[in-house]
Amino acid sequence: MLSVVVVGGGITGLAAAHRATELARERGIELDLKVIEGRGRLGGTIATERVDGFLVEAGPDSFLSEKPWALALCRRLGIEPKLVRTDDRFRKVFVWHHGRLHPLPDGFQLLAPTRLLPFATSSLFSWRGKLRMAADLLLPRGGGDDESLGAFVRRRLGREALERVAQPLVAGIYTADPDELSLAATMPRFLETERRHRSLILGLRRALRATPQPGTSGARWSLFVTLADGMEALVRALAERLPDSSVALGQRVASLERSAGRWRLATADGVRVDAHRVIVAGESHGAARLLRSVDPTLATLLGEIEYAGAATVSLGYRRAEVPHPLDGFGFVVPRSEGKSILAGTFSSVKYPGRAPDGHVLLRCFLGGALDARVLEEDDAQLLSRARSELREALGITAEPVLSRIARWPASMPQYRVGHLARVETLERHALKLPGLHLAGGAYRGVGIADCVRSGEAAAEAALTP
Ligand SMILES: Cc1cc2nc3c(=O)[nH]c(=O)nc-3n(C[C@H](O)[C@H](O)[C@H](O)COP(=O)(O)OP(=O)(O)OC[C@H]3O[C@@H](n4cnc5c(N)ncnc54)[C@H](O)[C@@H]3O)c2cc1C
Repeated sequence: MLSVVVVGGGITGLAAAHRATELARERGIELDLKVIEGRGRLGGTIATERVDGFLVEAGPDSFLSEKPWALALCRRLGIEPKLVRTDDRFRKVFVWHHGRLHPLPDGFQLLAPTRLLPFATSSLFSWRGKLRMAADLLLPRGGGDDESLGAFVRRRLGREALERVAQPLVAGIYTADPDELSLAATMPRFLETERRHRSLILGLRRALRATPQPGTSGARWSLFVTLADGMEALVRALAERLPDSSVALGQRVASLERSAGRWRLATADGVRVDAHRVIVAGESHGAARLLRSVDPTLATLLGEIEYAGAATVSLGYRRAEVPHPLDGFGFVVPRSEGKSILAGTFSSVKYPGRAPDGHVLLRCFLGGALDARVLEEDDAQLLSRARSELREALGITAEPVLSRIARWPASMPQYRVGHLARVETLERHALKLPGLHLAGGAYRGVGIADCVRSGEAAAEAALTP
């Protein structure tokens, strides 16, 4: 009998536990599996609530289909028919600039334009800014080993491209300061594009011609997908496939030690569990605390990965009381605008079934590495911030018919410059501790698809003799 304990019942831990049961079945291994979760519920930052006909996502609202692991998991779980794609009639994203929402020009690929006409006629950029971006067509290759995303965009496309597009789009994903964020660890595709094609714009255009883009006709899934019943449906489907009584809720693992070739865990309530293998699938700051006495160097490396917090404020309105046409997926807000909202999603436009008839659901994303103090505010303050900024952006003065606030302190790992080198070093250290496996968004990708991959890889390593 092989005993495996998974610490943490977020998507990483659940994907690990599920993969372990799949592998045990395939390989005829007798498995004693335990998932120990500190909270009273599974899912970690994934939390869906149905209320008064609204479907509110307190944490992630979708996952990337481009990275195949979450999609493949949904297929194996038999929930692929429940996946829903974005309503691509409204693919537009707006950028808040000088008090107004400007559409991001068609063909803008996160950092750089790929289509000339929409870019040239865009109201978002000044002529000087447009010319500076076009200079990318002529500039030589540059950069060093690990460059920050901010330095890279400034160098290739100029300050305006960074301030008005790259910074706010990146804040909406990584909640990070672009001058601290490692490009190699977060968006290696752009580095590779410069390496191969020199010009980012030319390279992205060539890549576009070579492959059909998700969301365009012919592609099965849009770039982002979700589940009809919300992201928690993925958590439920995973939990249903775990062996009976393998999940312990409301129990926080407080210590971890190695004893006689096995791992010994103790919960904060004093429950002891011995196991051949341990998959630590919680945040890396928690893993650092657990491993302090086992391997202080590893613990220090883990502790050096910083986290930022974030909050979401979801607001339901009567459609008639929202003056804006809501003809897009939402908007992002450059830091230079001095607002609290990092991004606003028109949730019920982006996905079907998020609001009852005649209503809309909007969601504001606040906090992040550049605005940590927002998380310290009480509900009334957060609500009033979100409402006053929505009034400015969308002209909404009405009282919301629904409001929900969620805080996620220290939940978003920050991949600073040097992140990949740190992860390689800590992975080398972890290899010296047989039976210990680290998984989660702290290491090689922050999104749900990356977490699924990381959890499944940890299970494969744990079940390989
Ligand atoms: C507001 C927000 C919006 C997001 N939006 C998206 C999105 O749209 N798309 C996307 O792909 N990603 C998104 N993300 C990121 C995504 O949610 C995470 O990458 C992913 O859910 C992390 O899963 P995880 O299991 O690694 O960690 P978590 O979800 O943090 O789960 C870790 C779990 O481990 C438990 N735990 C930790 N230590 C212990 C211990 N010692 N003992 C017992 N239990 C322990 C915790 O209680 C927690 O439940 C978002 C994140 C946030 C916060």
